[in-house]
Amino acid sequence: RNTPVTVAVTGGAGQIAYGLLFRIASGAMLGPDTPVRLRLLEIPAAVASLEGVAMELEDGAFPLLDSIDISDDPWVGFAGANVALLVGARPRTAGMERSDLLAANGPIFTEQGQAINASAADDVKVLVVGNPANTNAFIAMSNAPDVPAERFSAMTRLDHNRAIAQLAKKTGAPAADIARVTIWGNHSATQYPDVGHATIAGRPALELVDEAWLRDDFVPTVQQRGTAIIQARGASSAASAASAAIDHIHDWVLGTPEGDWTSMAVPSDGSYGVPEGLISSFPVTCADGGYTIVPDLSLDDFSRARLTATVAELEQERDAVVDLGFA
Ligand code: NDP
Repeated sequence: RNTPVTVAVTGGAGQIAYGLLFRIASGAMLGPDTPVRLRLLEIPAAVASLEGVAMELEDGAFPLLDSIDISDDPWVGFAGANVALLVGARPRTAGMERSDLLAANGPIFTEQGQAINASAADDVKVLVVGNPANTNAFIAMSNAPDVPAERFSAMTRLDHNRAIAQLAKKTGAPAADIARVTIWGNHSATQYPDVGHATIAGRPALELVDEAWLRDDFVPTVQQRGTAIIQARGASSAASAASAAIDHIHDWVLGTPEGDWTSMAVPSDGSYGVPEGLISSFPVTCADGGYTIVPDLSLDDFSRARLTATVAELEQERDAVVDLGFA
């Protein structure tokens, strides 16, 4: 048995958390030898419902689940957290513009960043799932000056997994044979799913699928998959988002497989011309609890134009929250 890891999760009574918490407790995120102490956060109105979720977690009798604490106060909830999953966010309601969404989430992620700065463990790793995820992560990072910036990330792993799934479906290859897919930029409809360096059972994906399918089918399908799920299910994707959050932290903590990489939105170091500090999705390899942006990949004109467009959107979001005083 390893030392227990303290995992804080916000939005603990929400749909994504309902898929997430049981898998964390089962060991799917941190491995079969690592006990977990859960610290669950909610807004006051959802605490009663969160208590019900905690009862269900207890009823799982998970051998790895050492404790469950509940709070509606981020200054309490993040105490000692080694992993912080920021899942809760103000949802977009009818008639709300993206700018309204940024303004509604600014105070939440400002306070959470400050609380993480003050009370989380020295090795805290933060994953933001709540939308607009990249910019919410930017706000939290900006309000946590004592936490190294590279510990803040936002989730594009669901987009990454969706891209693998579409390639698998098209070629008939199992998902396990597909490597080196990349999501660039923002977790939004401007994201760029890129298979320019992807391999399928070791062969370049570009030898197995044609350019027209990639451009006219694959890219828009991955970009709009969230909307397609809402239409089909009558509710946002939740279990697949939870599964992607498990994958994101699993790989960050335990490493990416040899010869492969994953996609994480992390503060740019200037790679690929993305302005420094912007939280943008990149191809990354993970080892020893850290990650490295995969360097020096060639980008053709189509890819470069897509990257420029999604980065421009991220810059607009950043400028908006800076103007609002959140970062
Ligand atoms: P979900 O659990 O379904 O979603 C939570 C967040 O994840 C949303 O911002 C959602 O964005 C986002 N998200 C990111 N990627 C995806 C994806 N691929 N598919 C679906 N969602 C994605 O929302 P619920 O409304 O069920 O639950 C949210 C909970 O958070 C509520 O219980 C609320 O009380 C709580 N909350 C907690 C806060 C806190 O702890 N301080 C603050 C605010 C809310 P999108 O809206 O774009 O789908």
